[in-house]
Amino acid sequence: MTTLNVPLVDLKAQYQSIRAEIDSTVARILASAWFVGGPELSSFENEFAAYCERDHCVGVNSGTDALGLALAALGVGPGDEVITVSHTFFATAEAILRLGAKPVFVDVVPETLLMNTDELAGAVTAKTRAIVPVHLYGQMVPMQPVRELADEHGLKVVEDAAQAAGARQATRPAGSFGDAAAFSFYPGKNLGAYGDGGAVVTSDPQVADAVRRQSDHGRVDKYRHTQVGDNSRLDALQAAVLRVKLPHLDTWNARRRQLAAMYDEALTTSHLAIREENESTYHLYVARVRERDRALEALREAGIGAGVHYPVPVHKQPAIDSGAVLPVTERIAGEILSLPMYAEMPEEAIAVAAECLEAFAV
Ligand SMILES: *Cc1c(COP(=O)(O)O)cnc(C)c1O
Repeated sequence: MTTLNVPLVDLKAQYQSIRAEIDSTVARILASAWFVGGPELSSFENEFAAYCERDHCVGVNSGTDALGLALAALGVGPGDEVITVSHTFFATAEAILRLGAKPVFVDVVPETLLMNTDELAGAVTAKTRAIVPVHLYGQMVPMQPVRELADEHGLKVVEDAAQAAGARQATRPAGSFGDAAAFSFYPGKNLGAYGDGGAVVTSDPQVADAVRRQSDHGRVDKYRHTQVGDNSRLDALQAAVLRVKLPHLDTWNARRRQLAAMYDEALTTSHLAIREENESTYHLYVARVRERDRALEALREAGIGAGVHYPVPVHKQPAIDSGAVLPVTERIAGEILSLPMYAEMPEEAIAVAAECLEAFAV
């Protein structure tokens, strides 16, 4: 078999494709010496709010903080319950727990590995305050049933859109459905900064104000602090980098969808289904296999970078250990693997990966 050297994601290749623009932008920010706040940040916030079809965007220092700040701004606090999934990155639950609230986990649907919205009603209690649907791998959770259930019980909805910048459902973008949405600009995300970063988008001016105040020392102006806040801001250098990248995002995501279609065609093992109404960002391309360790070894030998997102469900993490029983989440955690996926990736990797996985098909 051919030996390649294709990583799971290649941030250097993307940098090379936009290097001149990035380098001149970084030089401009260094020369301006305006590193925190300022015009780059507010321009990015305006541009990203418009991209998400929302009235407000507040840049913060990570996707984790974006989730926590959005939930807190919507009134989630100690003793409250927040319904979400266990099949996600740890930070989804961490943001809830850090507020003193409790994550209540529902299972995922085997075809998409997204929140099973049929289980939401059964998870609501008198303490439930919010729902956090996670648009995992870049595909959006069906938002109509989430919204309907939330409205029925007076709950808030915060989209975890960390992996879904640019995703769409019907005609609307990720981030435009919830009371607020949280994005991550971690370097490996589809819209990645050159360091940590995140944002909250919302169309509620009070939520935007509350997030901004809490993220900036609880202040209303330079010397007046009306609450004990955090220091969780998106810095100007990251905002400037994100402003360079945002106009490229749709092109990069479209290329990911083309590559995903090639994977779908080539693979004999099962892979995730995309719902009719959805356009995924393919943050990750996930397949399911049996004997995963051997499958990963075969990929490694062929020079294909692969990963597992995520091998241990959140409700089984030592820090959480919730006692929840989630049959689909628990089963698929042992079967999933993520194949190389980035706009600049060489197409040859797809056939080679498919050949490697043939013997492990489910
Ligand atoms: C990356 C990620 C987060 C956290 O974002 P950070 O910027 O790394 O803090 C939260 N939820 C999901 C689903 C993620 O993928």
